[in-house]
Amino acid sequence: MSAPSSARPTARRHPRVAVVGGGLAGITAALRLADAGCRVTLHEAKPKLGGLTHSFPRDLGDERLWVDNGQHVFLRCCTSYRALLDRLGVTGQVTIQDRLDVTVLSGAYVGTGRLRRSGLPAPLHLGAALATYRWLSPLDRLKVVPAALALGRVDRKAPVTDDQSFGDWLARHGQSDRAVEAVWDLIGVATLNAPAARSSLALAATVFQLGLLDEPGAADIGWSDVPLQQLHGDAAAKALADAGVDVRLGAKVVSLDDLDAEAVVVATTAPEAARLAGDVIPDAHPADWADELGSAPIINLHLVYDRTVLDEPFVAAVDSPLQWVFDRTAHAGLRQGQYVAVSISAADQLVDLPVATLRERFVPHVEAVLPRARDAELRDFFVTRERHATFRPAPGSGRLRPATRTTSARVYLAGAWTATGWPATMEGAVRSGEAAADALLETRSPLEVGA
Ligand SMILES: Cc1cc2nc3c(=O)[nH]c(=O)nc-3n(C[C@H](O)[C@H](O)[C@H](O)COP(=O)(O)OP(=O)(O)OC[C@H]3O[C@@H](n4cnc5c(N)ncnc54)[C@H](O)[C@@H]3O)c2cc1C
Repeated sequence: MSAPSSARPTARRHPRVAVVGGGLAGITAALRLADAGCRVTLHEAKPKLGGLTHSFPRDLGDERLWVDNGQHVFLRCCTSYRALLDRLGVTGQVTIQDRLDVTVLSGAYVGTGRLRRSGLPAPLHLGAALATYRWLSPLDRLKVVPAALALGRVDRKAPVTDDQSFGDWLARHGQSDRAVEAVWDLIGVATLNAPAARSSLALAATVFQLGLLDEPGAADIGWSDVPLQQLHGDAAAKALADAGVDVRLGAKVVSLDDLDAEAVVVATTAPEAARLAGDVIPDAHPADWADELGSAPIINLHLVYDRTVLDEPFVAAVDSPLQWVFDRTAHAGLRQGQYVAVSISAADQLVDLPVATLRERFVPHVEAVLPRARDAELRDFFVTRERHATFRPAPGSGRLRPATRTTSARVYLAGAWTATGWPATMEGAVRSGEAAADALLETRSPLEVGA
């Protein structure tokens, strides 16, 4: 005979959570928390979701282009970002190369270089491409392989690694200025947003180990086939609504005390997080950590031609300030001619130049890399500038990046600038959102009430 129970049944109540910031980090955290049963409100200061990945319309004659604030690419190894795309139901709106394949053109010489992986296991998969890479001398080709293997062995998690400059490390490993330009910076500047000389060895090792040295398919490049706003912000608005998240747009949070929530994920920019949550970020960080971490700009030059000037989805450039050039025609909805975007990272010297100066300076470089542009009519030229595109990935930046957990069990941090180990990327942002949600759930969910 069982004893009569006098206890009331236990109810499990999930906490009310506020997520501040509707970039990829905030979107990820909000979805993960809602999926775990939390009652989530997401506050975004701007009128749309997506943060640093967004798009805007631009009229050109009787056509309307959808322009991204900056070209974004990802790699096959960006597993968390790709899981977010799946969760948003937009995986069908991106393309990933079957096999890493980058055409590299020169602004000074005729010919085509190619960085293409073979079917061999990593790191041999790039051996053939490097052995025949047109833009390196035979001696540099010989020296680049042992340097790549040595980079694969660097302990990227050791603090001493983060204090070193990638440029110094490359010089110590026999890399000439040409090898730095035509191989290491070709990839590194676009992924780190700084040249090797100004990058942390730990962040560079992360990019090259995870992308190029560990798994053969890891560096296959992916990109969106639709405007970023559609891929991220609009898809997220629907997914969040379906998950029961209360999304408030145009809702800048001024103080965390104003939020009616038991727990908060601060997924803003770093300076804003320092302002909102500075008092609960552990002392190990200097008080001015966000200023010290700083930010680095990216600009995109947008050129619309009356005809096709580029046959490939994208090319990279050496002997040229262009870095990477993307065909945006179909994504943007252009019906006549071709729209190309030139993505220039680490654009400190360019970000404040007037459009006319950039046009005068860069159109000849586009014509040098894409000779068919010389005969084409340039129908439109405009510039997008993101002054605070990423944090500065300088040596020593690792110790300035705060962890997800703060000294308050109520407050968690997310954002590409938190201590993810990744440079400021979409993958880093999504990982930070996952980490914040997981830490919050581990600490606070579900609350037992009514027992
Ligand atoms: C031009 C450009 C090109 C890039 N290229 C690539 C690329 O090719 N590949 C790649 O992986 N990454 C790239 N990145 C980096 C990537 O976009 C970012 O790392 C990522 O989007 C950051 O997401 P986040 O959520 O951490 O931050 P954010 O996108 O900055 O989101 C923070 C959000 O918080 C909101 N907010 C701030 N303060 C408040 C407040 N007080 N109350 C409410 N809301 C607030 C902001 O409005 C913003 O929406 C690029 C970035 C730029 C700008």
